[in-house]
Amino acid sequence: MEFSYLTRKNDLKNLNGKEYEVVIVGGGIVGAGIANVLSANGIKILLIDKGDFASGTSSNSSKLIHGGLRYLAQGHLLLTRELLKERNYLLKNLDFVSRMKFDILIDDSSWSRSSLYFGLFLYNLLGGKIEFPRFKRDGYSYDGYRGHFTYEDASTDDALLVVHNVVSAVMQGATAINYLEATEFKDVEGRVETKLVDRLEEGSFHVKSKIVVNAAGPWVNAALKGYGSRKIDDLRLSKGSHLILKKDKFNLKNAVAFRSHLDRRQMFIIPKGDVVIVGTTDKFVDSPNSFVMDDEEEEYIVDSVRKVFPNVGEEDVVGSYSGIRPLYGSGDDPGRVTRDFHIGKSGKMITIMGVKITNYRSASRKICRQIGEMLNKSLNVRDLPRVEYSRSGRDPLECAVMHECALTVEDVVRRRLGYYYSTTDQGQKETSSIKELLERVSGKH
Ligand SMILES: Cc1cc2nc3c(=O)[nH]c(=O)nc-3n(C[C@H](O)[C@H](O)[C@H](O)COP(=O)(O)OP(=O)(O)OC[C@H]3O[C@@H](n4cnc5c(N)ncnc54)[C@H](O)[C@@H]3O)c2cc1C
Repeated sequence: MEFSYLTRKNDLKNLNGKEYEVVIVGGGIVGAGIANVLSANGIKILLIDKGDFASGTSSNSSKLIHGGLRYLAQGHLLLTRELLKERNYLLKNLDFVSRMKFDILIDDSSWSRSSLYFGLFLYNLLGGKIEFPRFKRDGYSYDGYRGHFTYEDASTDDALLVVHNVVSAVMQGATAINYLEATEFKDVEGRVETKLVDRLEEGSFHVKSKIVVNAAGPWVNAALKGYGSRKIDDLRLSKGSHLILKKDKFNLKNAVAFRSHLDRRQMFIIPKGDVVIVGTTDKFVDSPNSFVMDDEEEEYIVDSVRKVFPNVGEEDVVGSYSGIRPLYGSGDDPGRVTRDFHIGKSGKMITIMGVKITNYRSASRKICRQIGEMLNKSLNVRDLPRVEYSRSGRDPLECAVMHECALTVEDVVRRRLGYYYSTTDQGQKETSSIKELLERVSGKH
């Protein structure tokens, strides 16, 4: 099935005045998961994103599919169990979710050996395996190192997970359009009329729907404002940044989890291709558009890493990326705001925030049950969403452009083929061949 520049062009040509059952604003993991469930139920939907699919937080995470040892340490047992169940499902069913071993280091900044032992034992138990954590004292040689445990979790390409859900939705009848922004919502004769603006080329459109799903991530309040609704006061935006560093000096067998000696925050060093990604920071910001690492964050990450790998320096930095967590909760410490999700309703708009990549399936089911009630339809959400799309041995670049609606070089390099997050040149070498294919498909050559 083709899903390309030409599909988008055609969809836009026929868009104005169309009526849908549901318009979903935001093609991150939340919007994509919901679109996949609704279209599997034959609901007529339009999914839009103001940038590329996954261009918000959902391509800028730590890319872990995990229960979160930190959530366990904070006593969120049920959340951890749910996340681990989801991790196990994704590991079993998706070939781009893979097992990843972590060495969790013990030193002056870390948890004690006995509490780590207990925590990891419980983590294994909640994940469905009884595996006794084994203590080791080799492999690392920095000042203060006292040993480590090794445990297993999973990692993925977050953007690819989103894109696979979007394409699966399209295969089941959804219309999905990237670079299309919803700017206004009005109640008109029992429907919501949404104004859409093309951010790639010129043009604006109006569509109608029975309900609007506000899955705009950090921008949910902007969408509520566009509907004339009260903003959600408890929305907290927390920026998290990662540094991308050359892998050579790390000489890693496993990924590493450690606590920063600066503030005892949990950090990860995750190998990806030729690089490692190191993060993350966690700090409140006012604007949903603060997708850039600042100097203070860079210094914090480099200093934290150098305690464990002293020969690593600024010269090893390849790049960085940042995401904004749309959290729902209160408190002064971003690390302690709950990572559970929240569903709010305002007129014909349903707003969702705080869903993690890992639990997008269980969250999508819960949200779609509520959408079903709003539509007066009983939806079958069992075992959904399912990823129906696969690249299955085909050329990934061809798939990205012809079947996954990549429209720009950045879409390909960051959100289809992941070069940005896994190579030392961040995809520079591939730019000209990508550009050539994109121009050929769009007829701009
Ligand atoms: C640093 C960091 C690390 C993380 N690590 C992990 C991890 O390892 N594992 C994990 O499970 N979770 C992790 N998370 C959490 C997870 O990434 C987020 O909770 C999740 O991606 C949020 O998805 P979303 O769909 O709500 O938001 P987003 O991905 O931001 O999607 C919202 C989309 O809406 C679009 N949009 C906004 N306004 C409009 C509009 N008016 N019209 C059209 N489109 C619009 C945006 O362009 C955007 O693409 C991490 C988060 C951060 C910040």
